Amino acid sequence: MLRILLRWCLLLTAISILSACSRSPTDHQQTLLVFGTLLDIKAYTDNPDQFSQAVRSLDETFQSMHREWHAWKGEGELVRLNQAFAEGREMRVSESLAELLRQSQDYSQQSEGLFNPAIGRLIGLWGFHSDEPPGGPPPDPAAIQSLLKAAPSMEDVRFDGNLLTSVNPSVEIDLGAFAKGYALNLAIEQLKTFGIEHAIVNAGGDLCVSGRHGDRPWTIGVRHPLGEGVIASVEVSDGECVLTSGNYERYREYEGIRYAHILDPRSGYPVEHVASATVISPDGGLADAAATALSVAGPDGWQKIAHRMGLSQVMLVDEKGRIHITPAMKARIEFQQQIEEILVSEQMNR
Ligand code: AMP
Ligand code: MG
Repeated sequence: MLRILLRWCLLLTAISILSACSRSPTDHQQTLLVFGTLLDIKAYTDNPDQFSQAVRSLDETFQSMHREWHAWKGEGELVRLNQAFAEGREMRVSESLAELLRQSQDYSQQSEGLFNPAIGRLIGLWGFHSDEPPGGPPPDPAAIQSLLKAAPSMEDVRFDGNLLTSVNPSVEIDLGAFAKGYALNLAIEQLKTFGIEHAIVNAGGDLCVSGRHGDRPWTIGVRHPLGEGVIASVEVSDGECVLTSGNYERYREYEGIRYAHILDPRSGYPVEHVASATVISPDGGLADAAATALSVAGPDGWQKIAHRMGLSQVMLVDEKGRIHITPAMKARIEFQQQIEEILVSEQMNR
């Protein structure tokens, strides 16, 4: 009797091992609310438990980044740093914030100041330091001019290791144009530490991917900034990120005029001629900063800035719905709608 029971036990164990081995990977998806937006995490895995564990850990990481890197709410590290800058004090920051600011400084310089996260006061003046969309007339032009005259720039921020000072008290850092892309890259890395090798982390259309979706690459859609639905789809390879800056995302509306949340640091006024800028790069932070800078650079200036930032995969949709695109981007993107005009830039070096 005991022998029969033992044989049954062995058989059952063998079956359960076999079924565990043969469990094939499938799609698993979870959504988090982070950075004031929904973060959609999709994985192609045979281990849903590990995926859930990874998502819980990501949630913690993102909540902490949101708290510490928020520009104007709470008492996080960046809020305290901005206070120190305003008062001319020095402050020692964490290695993660120092790294974020060092990269911001580089991208600001490469974009000739069009990506300028030091213009927090200007962003606040336009009403975008608020959870609700701002209303009412645009700010007093004199107030805009006075902030422009103060000329806050990332070059004003001085690093002595992680001890930071600003030589210009008008510097107020706002990482809204950069931190999301930077964090998406980190999210992919963090998922890998939990063994999740095939994933897509998507915050409102901004995303990074790892691995593949089974036997195919991940395929994503880029939203049409002026119409409905998806303007184009693209296959995204392991380690790539796709970041889009759009005028449609947040704006202030007054007397039928929309004032976008992306500001031109040269004029102090919102960007007008670009509806969206999309950048593909393995570096999510670079792609995010660049998408914002290229929106500011506009249909005439974007090629030079893309070149300076070392980007080859860029697409702009201008206010008239025309596409401005690099050859490398055109080669891989598939338009899903009728496009008025596609203007391919001259071949860029990189
Ligand atoms: P994004 O959607 O990545 O283009 O980021 C837009 C956000 O970045 C805005 O809501 C502002 O907080 C901030 N911002 C606006 N204009 C600029 C700029 N020229 N440089 C850096 N940050 C900006
Ligand atoms: Mg950006």
